[in-house]
Amino acid sequence: MSSKKGIRTTEAVVIGAGTIGCATAYHLARSGIKTILTDRNTVGSGNTSLAASLLTRIRGKEPIIPLVKETYANIEVLHDEIESRLDISDWGSLHIAASAESSSELQKLVKIAQTHHIGHDHLGQGEVKKMVPWLAVDEVQQALFIPGDAHLDAYVLTQGFAAGAKMYGAEIAQYTHVTGLIMEQDKVKGVESEQGPIYADYVVDAAGAWSNLISLKAGVALPMTPVRSNYWITAKDKELFNADQPIVILPDASAYTRPESGGLLFGLRESNSIHFDPRNLPADLTGYTFGNPGDQWNILMEQGEKLRRFFPMFDQVSIPHYISGVSTYTPDGMFVIGGVPGVKGFLAATGCSGAGVAVSGGMGRIIAEMANGQEPFCDTQPFRPDRFGMIDPFSEEFMVRCAKARSRKTSG
Ligand SMILES: Cc1cc2nc3c(=O)[nH]c(=O)nc-3n(C[C@H](O)[C@H](O)[C@H](O)COP(=O)(O)OP(=O)(O)OC[C@H]3O[C@@H](n4cnc5c(N)ncnc54)[C@H](O)[C@@H]3O)c2cc1C
Repeated sequence: MSSKKGIRTTEAVVIGAGTIGCATAYHLARSGIKTILTDRNTVGSGNTSLAASLLTRIRGKEPIIPLVKETYANIEVLHDEIESRLDISDWGSLHIAASAESSSELQKLVKIAQTHHIGHDHLGQGEVKKMVPWLAVDEVQQALFIPGDAHLDAYVLTQGFAAGAKMYGAEIAQYTHVTGLIMEQDKVKGVESEQGPIYADYVVDAAGAWSNLISLKAGVALPMTPVRSNYWITAKDKELFNADQPIVILPDASAYTRPESGGLLFGLRESNSIHFDPRNLPADLTGYTFGNPGDQWNILMEQGEKLRRFFPMFDQVSIPHYISGVSTYTPDGMFVIGGVPGVKGFLAATGCSGAGVAVSGGMGRIIAEMANGQEPFCDTQPFRPDRFGMIDPFSEEFMVRCAKARSRKTSG
């Protein structure tokens, strides 16, 4: 993996080697397009390395489902292509309803599972207790189990996509900071980087939280904002937690959980998620604190009450780890995929809305199909970059709209 200097020419340049950029480079290279994948740091060093990495397949927003299925299909194929297993934990997911509102949402999920031929079982309280001993089953009104739903380490998946891309001939240019776009009238002709220009027919903006800083070099704003996500990890407890427990989705607590290192990883969605102006985010996130140092305790105080209802031992377990980072949210919680309006040859694969690991394979495939002039394998209209019209991505009003999409989210 290189950081060569000098003028280079290729067919596609992908900016950003997070899960999405690596999956995109993998699909481009696999489809026969000569590709250079750039990152100013290293593969997977951005927000990817912070993800909880749930790959839940049943989503209230149905257009997302084919993208997640594609990621599962890619993982299966990658095992053979790179001759290494990606260590996926596929112990299923459990969607819990504990109110009239969440019960009715769960019924909708059942219909969606049927439509998309995703296996699912209704579980009784006894079965739930056996599967998830820490959960207060008296609170459970309905439980829907999705066998085979998985989580993994997003960093490992990202490295897997990068290795796959390389195997198909892509060049992985780490420590290659893209500083500009090379334009000829309304067409992008490549990128300027600190290592020299790279000329290409296609440029893909997969720069995650920093995507707007790239697209604005062509004068186009993408409809997304970096919004904080948080999770905590408890200490090990053999009685309560083990690695083969499923993901648990608790919409009534705005929470999700999964096993992690003998403890429980739990994510809580803030009722007022905080957003960040990408111009103020550092290029290297190492050691960066998203928000104020005391926020993790404030959120636990604010949201913990709702989780305690389902996790009675909440106050007894120690919680040594807190992780926070940003995902890029759009006002409707859908992604930003496809041609950047008004700029030929410029594609966006971003606006991950907290699901970028799960949908990475699907996003990558869409971009490769578009670059090859093919009809995408699924409906891409809901992800069109221009669907909000003209926006100012740095206005407070727009950033708050995006942050609200995070706070409203109830799925995995
Ligand atoms: C706490 C948390 C929990 C999450 N949980 C989940 C989950 O359960 N499931 C799920 O699917 N997703 C989850 N996500 C979201 C997930 O992390 C992202 O959607 C996913 O990793 C995709 O990120 P990305 O590739 O868009 O961005 P990143 O990983 O941030 O990659 C962008 C890359 O672009 C590079 N870059 C930026 N500017 C330039 C430039 N000018 N030149 C060169 N390179 C540049 C950066 O260095 C970076 O490596 C979570 C996120 C967080 C923070």
